[in-house]
Amino acid sequence: MIQLIKGFKDVLPGEIEVWQTIERAAKETFENFGFQEIRLPIVEKSELFSRSIGDTTDIVEKEMYTFEDGRRGHVTLRPEATASVVRSYIQHKMYAKDPVRKFYTIGPMFRRERPQKGRYRQFYQIDAEVFGIDSPYLDAQLIFMLASLLERLKAKDVKAHINSLGCPCCRPNFQKALKELLDAKKEHLCENCLRRSEKNPLRVLDCKVPACREAVVGAPSILDHLCDDCSEHFDTVKRVLTENGVEYEVNKNLVRGLDYYTRTAFEVLTTSLGAQNAVAGGGRYDGLVKALGGPEVPAIGFAIGFDRLAEIVAMQQTIEANGPTLYIAPLGEKATEAAAHWTMQLAARGISCETDFGGRSLKSHMKRADKLKAAHVLMVGDDELEKGMATLRNMTTRDQRDLPLDGLVETLAEQFK
Ligand code: AMP
Repeated sequence: MIQLIKGFKDVLPGEIEVWQTIERAAKETFENFGFQEIRLPIVEKSELFSRSIGDTTDIVEKEMYTFEDGRRGHVTLRPEATASVVRSYIQHKMYAKDPVRKFYTIGPMFRRERPQKGRYRQFYQIDAEVFGIDSPYLDAQLIFMLASLLERLKAKDVKAHINSLGCPCCRPNFQKALKELLDAKKEHLCENCLRRSEKNPLRVLDCKVPACREAVVGAPSILDHLCDDCSEHFDTVKRVLTENGVEYEVNKNLVRGLDYYTRTAFEVLTTSLGAQNAVAGGGRYDGLVKALGGPEVPAIGFAIGFDRLAEIVAMQQTIEANGPTLYIAPLGEKATEAAAHWTMQLAARGISCETDFGGRSLKSHMKRADKLKAAHVLMVGDDELEKGMATLRNMTTRDQRDLPLDGLVETLAEQFK
């Protein structure tokens, strides 16, 4: 038997109801905040990710699914969505009419990570990106939107961790101070961090290796190096979050894995899965649109880990699929043919309807209707067919009434619409 590949998974009925609930809640919430949906390809030129995510990140260094595609050169299964959203914004000159655009997109991402609980090689993200607004009010609004979606989905103890990464004007000073510390602690750093400390020292703050974590205790804080503009920006984000009741903590070591972030960076954590876990992360990336060949347009976004959120929601609530509105129970060959006709007609009119062609007994039909959780059952035998009548049973109240077969589809479509 051929089995699925480790690190990949099937989302089956029974589990999918939670995914659908999340998707509906996300769409509704985001649309209330003025976002529009976009759908983008899963495969992009590899260069898009190496240029935007950065050569020194884990993703680009070792996790991308890249292959050669003839004359197109190297292509990659997208490891995240931001780069593609930016590519699309630039390619379609969306900024020309109005630089302010708000998008969301939901879909699979691919990273060749070590498969483990909660970490997949194909996982799903719910992604939101805003272009053309540099105001700190927006940063706070996005974090608020994320927190309110998680609360709506009953995630427990939602908390935001926030930091500011400064801008090209103030970050170099911090990088210099950090680099001095890292140079002094060289012998304690892992191989990756040794390399990163040369190219992008900030990334060392993000390393999970215990020795590296130890080495950066007492490292200078980026928050002490912010320029006046960045400092004021960050203060406003904090103030607006407080005013709007979003719980947050400033985490000076939060740098996020990706190179293109500027100013506000954040993660949203919940305790729903036991230990505190990041269910979403994001931040401002004011330089990326320009770096990828577009105009100078500020931008900010986040990605929610859909798989993780689905686990959280499944723990908090039971969401079951609805059964059909109607189950038609035919007895006899002619009645079965009539049931086939009615089922097709009703389903086409938007009434969820099921039947069974197997020539079951009435008892067996009722068992099947129960199993499917049908709300009503229409019973009709060949005799009733001749008399032009059928019996409709409400499965909750157990009330029964007779219905004329003449105009049956219209009657039922009207009743159940
Ligand atoms: P990132 O794009 O790395 O900032 O991740 C954003 C969110 O996506 C994280 O907080 C996780 O919840 C989720 N995520 C990232 N990588 C994986 C993965 N390999 N498997 C499942 N979820 C993931």
